[in-house]
Amino acid sequence: MKCSRCHEEAVIYYPQSRQALCAEHLKEYIERKVKRAIERFKMLKRGEKVLVAVSGGKDSLMLWEILVDMGYDTEGLYIDLGLGEYSKSSEEYSRGFAEERDLTLRIVRVKEDHGIDIVAAAKRLRRPTCSVCGTVKRYIMNREAVEAGRVLATGHNMDDEASTLLGNLLTWNGEQLLRASPSLPSTHPKLARRIKPLIYVSERESATYCFSHGIKYIIPECPYSEGARLSVVKEALSKIEDRSPGSLLNFVDGFYRKSEGILCRRNGGIKEGVELKPCPLCGYLTSSSGPCAFCRLKSLFSSGE
Ligand SMILES: [Zn+2]
Ligand SMILES: [Zn+2]
Repeated sequence: MKCSRCHEEAVIYYPQSRQALCAEHLKEYIERKVKRAIERFKMLKRGEKVLVAVSGGKDSLMLWEILVDMGYDTEGLYIDLGLGEYSKSSEEYSRGFAEERDLTLRIVRVKEDHGIDIVAAAKRLRRPTCSVCGTVKRYIMNREAVEAGRVLATGHNMDDEASTLLGNLLTWNGEQLLRASPSLPSTHPKLARRIKPLIYVSERESATYCFSHGIKYIIPECPYSEGARLSVVKEALSKIEDRSPGSLLNFVDGFYRKSEGILCRRNGGIKEGVELKPCPLCGYLTSSSGPCAFCRLKSLFSSGE
């Protein structure tokens, strides 16, 4: 099949518009979608620098490449969560990507730099590994972005957004719905602005992009991932998308546009009435009265325990 815009071989086909695109025109199309997300949700002001959180997966690496090509000043952040082989190979893909393109990649090691063993902590606290991992990732991403004076960008794509939104709607998880905003402002010097420039880009598009632009990425999911409920939702959404292409885009875009102003996004995605105070140990914000969740994890492993 030929590209609908030029005579190159197509790499992707859109049934709803009966359009096919070659690798270069797919890139142009994705860049337009990223630009639209950035403008619509006022994600970046002129001259603002970006810290791209990379996991070695297709979405975050593609996002980094696209932002670089669009002319943004970027650095990458890779967090070594200490999850064995999985962490090792996702680091290799992230480093390989950065080295090939001569980009700066910051690496934070949860075990070596902060003394936290995520798997052991989850066992001791009888919490799911994913939830401890989430606490650690959120803290480190925010802290690194604040210290670097950069806006934090993550590679959440349209399918991720749609399944998170639908999952949270099914359980009416109001607080999570608030946090899912594509652009959370910084409301405090210790709180980085967080943006999701890929909310209009589908998983199929980012996989096709990486494949056709020579980006190598890690395919297996994290061995601790507990996406059971989410994958049922994802499956249902992909059936809906198959039957009626374009539904996911309408769902995600419609939700964010219509909910603006209703949700207390101006408060940085923090629930009204929740007051954040500086953690007495690290100075970053927490809703708890004592040390923050990250410092409490750290204390599990400090000497004398
Ligand atoms: Zn073309
Ligand atoms: Zn703390």
